[in-house]
Amino acid sequence: MLKLENLSKYYYSSSTVTCALRKINLEFKVGEFIAITGESGSGKTTLLNIISGLDSYEEGELYYNGKKTSYFDDSDWEQYRKEQIAFIFQNYNLIDSYSVLENVMVAYIIDGYSFKEAKVKAKEVLKFVGLQGDVHKKATKLSGGQKQRLAIARALAKDSQIIVADEPTGNLDAENGAAILELLKKVSKNKLVIVVTHNQGQIEPFITRKIRLHDGEVVSDEVVKEQETTLSVESKNEIENKEINNIFNFSFLNIKSQPKKGLLMLFLVFISTLSSFVFLANFKMNLDDNKTKELDDKIFTNLDDTRLLVRKNDSSIITDEILNEAMVDEVASVEKYDYITDCNYYRKGDYYTKLAGAWTDPDPNTGKSEFIDGSSIILEKHDKFMRSYYSLKESDLSVGRLPVNDYEMVVYSNDESILDTYEKVLFRNEKRWATGNYYQYDFKIVGLLKEPTNQAYFSDNICRMMEISQYDIRTTISYEIRVTATKTKKYNTSFNKIVVDPELGNYDMSFPEDIRQNLAKSIVNNERNTIIRYDTIAMYETYNFNKETALKVSEDAVGISQEFFDQIYETYKDKKQFALFLTDYAYLEDVKKDLSKLGYDSVSCFQAAVSGYDVSKVIVRYVNLVVSILALALINALSVLIGYTILKVKKNDYVIFKMIGMTNSMCKKVNYVEVITYAILSSILLVSVSTIVKYSITNLYIVDVYKYIKWYDYLIVFAIMLFAMFMLGKRYAKFITNKAKVTVLKEVE
Ligand code: ADP
Ligand code: MG
Repeated sequence: MLKLENLSKYYYSSSTVTCALRKINLEFKVGEFIAITGESGSGKTTLLNIISGLDSYEEGELYYNGKKTSYFDDSDWEQYRKEQIAFIFQNYNLIDSYSVLENVMVAYIIDGYSFKEAKVKAKEVLKFVGLQGDVHKKATKLSGGQKQRLAIARALAKDSQIIVADEPTGNLDAENGAAILELLKKVSKNKLVIVVTHNQGQIEPFITRKIRLHDGEVVSDEVVKEQETTLSVESKNEIENKEINNIFNFSFLNIKSQPKKGLLMLFLVFISTLSSFVFLANFKMNLDDNKTKELDDKIFTNLDDTRLLVRKNDSSIITDEILNEAMVDEVASVEKYDYITDCNYYRKGDYYTKLAGAWTDPDPNTGKSEFIDGSSIILEKHDKFMRSYYSLKESDLSVGRLPVNDYEMVVYSNDESILDTYEKVLFRNEKRWATGNYYQYDFKIVGLLKEPTNQAYFSDNICRMMEISQYDIRTTISYEIRVTATKTKKYNTSFNKIVVDPELGNYDMSFPEDIRQNLAKSIVNNERNTIIRYDTIAMYETYNFNKETALKVSEDAVGISQEFFDQIYETYKDKKQFALFLTDYAYLEDVKKDLSKLGYDSVSCFQAAVSGYDVSKVIVRYVNLVVSILALALINALSVLIGYTILKVKKNDYVIFKMIGMTNSMCKKVNYVEVITYAILSSILLVSVSTIVKYSITNLYIVDVYKYIKWYDYLIVFAIMLFAMFMLGKRYAKFITNKAKVTVLKEVE
């Protein structure tokens, strides 16, 4: 079966050449149980390694079944070891993390048996070696004798023709040693068993032949007793298991038996998956360069980046349906009066009164305020913009009601005592009104918002009124005042704005205080209801001048009644444009797309206002982009490195697997399956964790990340992980195929 012909083996080091075997001539047959003895350094292990194809030889020839092995290439040797050789070692070489059963099962699985079959077969073999009671113990928990039995069981599971054993009883006491040799003897009946040993006396009763080496040469070779061969050449069952099943069975066994290592790897891969996800999001956050541009507020005062101006592209006049339809995903609210979103309002603290004050603050309870002469108002800041109450629901209020009547508003406050009190609010449009022009009204706070916000929401009427005053319609009023019963005097005055004066009846008009005083002086007979004519927007009517009370606005407006105001507003009822607000700028493109599908044209006020780049923002953006990409690459490279280190710990396991008969190609595939499993699991974990975070944590900065993440970004992260794990698998495969090549035994010893 095996024949060595003038076989020599040399070990070369930098300065010396050691001759480990010298012109060996030996022949081995099935059924023999051979002991190889000799003192330390005589070449026993070297001989065994050459027979098992673990080491090369320099001279002579090793024949296997008559074939010259000097022509074998790596894969021939691999095949030879896989099919013909089973190893038993002094130090057992068991997989410590495996149970007794798994240590045997793995040999069957590598051989191509299914998981189930392997279990049945392994139990049979374990019974044969007398370990049936310990199948579920960890291999490390066994005594030395039991370990060696297990190693024999595993060797038997390989069903190979040749069993080689290097000092199998070296670590055992006499009793256990004898039991092992007994077992090997039983096995040798239809196999070739070659045992290297120091202890010739112990092995003598079992063997059929003994060979003695000295200094690399055979010094004696004698037959001890005739072999009792039964030679029932068992034909191996052809196993028709697909390689892929084989690999999955093995990977399953491997992961199952080492849960801690598996979890550690999974944790590592998950951390790098998570970081990849965050940096990908950061990258996407910085893709839009609009955020790095300077803003030009020539057109809009309100540069809120969530504000869009919208209209139907068929020029439909807006209706409630149109407004509702525009509430697509990630639209926070719709504002019917788009112009007011550019109109500032000033609450207490946002303005102060110089000298005395145009009008005093209203009495909180009655809402009455008084005019004080010779004063001016200074507006502090202009960061608050009007909103109508339409985007609110009753459920947004903690107390009170929505501002459905004129001169009502809702605000946020945790002080309920301000409910139903009055407050003066000033309005001003920075872009459209002449310097110093503003309106002031006394508002009743009718409801308080639940959520803290700076935003006040105003009644429909004031919003409509303010919207009309944004159009910059110069209102010319010519009026005649009846000076005496028969004589009238004609005046022409142009006003910038028409506003509703809530104190007026249908046919009344009011003017700002200084004009009121002038007019009052002109009117001789001091009658309250002096008739005037006015002329605006092609309407000619006769109305009364209310000379008693002045309009509470800055000088350039005329006050009219609600009824008249509604009449004028009729001419603006073909309103086509409205505003809407996004939940976040991140969704701008999505919302624009959705709106466009529904037939809306939209413009981002923020984007319309951007002009040149802001250099410092541009730098920050590029730093962010570069850092994100680098971090992504670095983290994954690092996880490959750390993963490699963790996997390296398992190197010895692979050495053993290969000795049991695992081919290099299977090693590689098993590895790929294992690392790709980590990529898949950690990606699933990422989706789960991020779903939980997204819906359970709402007030955290990290949630911003999700605004930029689309479903397909999870696929991108998965692809990155897959790539990283592939690199890891490739590197590790290279490592185990190189490190566990022909020097298998040396690595383990
Ligand atoms: P044994 O197993 O009988 O103790 P070995 O086969 O291990 O002997 O060694 C035989 C000789 O070859 C010894 O002189 C040893 O020093 C030498 N040898 C064994 N392995 C190597 C090696 N990898 N490199 C160099 N010399 C070696
Ligand atoms: Mg040795």
